[in-house]
Amino acid sequence: MNNDYYNSFLDSSEKVIESSAGPARFKLGEGGEVKFNDAESVISRFRASLRNTIENLDDELTRFENNFANKHNAIFWASDYNDVFEGLKRLIKSQKAKSVRLPNVNSSTIFRELGIKYFLRDEKIELAEDGDMQFFNADRLLSDTGSILLLNQTNNSLARLTNHKTNVFFTTIDRVLGNSDWVEVFQQLVSYKSGCGKQDMIIFKGSANCNNYLFIIDNQRSQLLHNKEIRQSLCCLQCGRCNDVCPVFQTIGEEPYNNVFSGPIANVMLPYLETMESYRHVLYACTMCGRCEEVCPIGLPIRDMIVAARHSLIEEDGLEKSERRMLAVMRKMLTSRSKMNASSFIKRYLIGKFISSEYHRSHRLTPFSKETFNKSYKKFIENEQ
Ligand code: SF4
Ligand code: SF4
Repeated sequence: MNNDYYNSFLDSSEKVIESSAGPARFKLGEGGEVKFNDAESVISRFRASLRNTIENLDDELTRFENNFANKHNAIFWASDYNDVFEGLKRLIKSQKAKSVRLPNVNSSTIFRELGIKYFLRDEKIELAEDGDMQFFNADRLLSDTGSILLLNQTNNSLARLTNHKTNVFFTTIDRVLGNSDWVEVFQQLVSYKSGCGKQDMIIFKGSANCNNYLFIIDNQRSQLLHNKEIRQSLCCLQCGRCNDVCPVFQTIGEEPYNNVFSGPIANVMLPYLETMESYRHVLYACTMCGRCEEVCPIGLPIRDMIVAARHSLIEEDGLEKSERRMLAVMRKMLTSRSKMNASSFIKRYLIGKFISSEYHRSHRLTPFSKETFNKSYKKFIENEQ
């Protein structure tokens, strides 16, 4: 995979070729519920297919490229923002484009991740409904047919795609479905997101009427591939179900993430997409309650992934001295029933005595329950019965 094809495409003149397969269109069902007779088996096979695709991502991306690229469809492989912006500048210049039609940027992770609006503003490119180029978020790449799947297409249509001279699509390396048979299952599962339930889905392979440029962006996703456990996070559908049930996310909200990703799966991904150092706080915020896994439609083992990421943090970056002391004290406390059963005053005293003031300066300790552990446990059991 290289950019030679893309470069030669930009430099070449007019080309006409029929695409080998016509685009297809699917109507979406209403609502976000998954409606299959044998839902469990369907979802389990879909999950296996997703995992298989991520396990063989390099082959799947090559397969997509072989099936998609032709004289009208060009791929630009971008390792980061800079590559995307360099490619876009060349594209804008070659097309003599003065304006762009953008979809709703707020509902697109990739456009927010790239800060595409700011790029266009800096390049003095106007936003216009009938812009010289149209930008799209490519939700998934179908590697077996070389098609692009677009979701949530309120204001788009195949006619808009095929009759416009220049379409530019953006996606990331993990957004691949290896088998087109799964598109309707995929749509059902992601339509949980509000506003997506009744939208059309478009599958687009290209057309002789238009030139299509596809940016496939890494932006650190490949860092997630190194660890077998962590790489499963790339299967995430970004459906948002886990955000709605995570007690930590519901309490702290999006602010600590300061990123387009937030919630349980972001706890796993962000330390790799950004840096361990800047996202260690979200990695340790998880209480391991497991609610996210209960609702995840593809059964991602989020807790195992968070534990694996914590291990990596310790192996790669090490812990601060104060954090090591904190963990040692917590281990002593949690493995001793008599210490667990001490009053909140004593627990606080012990924590204060053994943990340096350095830790207190950077962390706020949650107050202990006034009841002893035995009392709280007894109450819990009574409520359960
Ligand atoms: S296991 Fe962690 S990430 Fe998942 S819901 Fe519980 S606190 Fe949130
Ligand atoms: S981890 Fe699961 S529930 Fe959460 S957004 Fe991804 S697919 Fe949805």
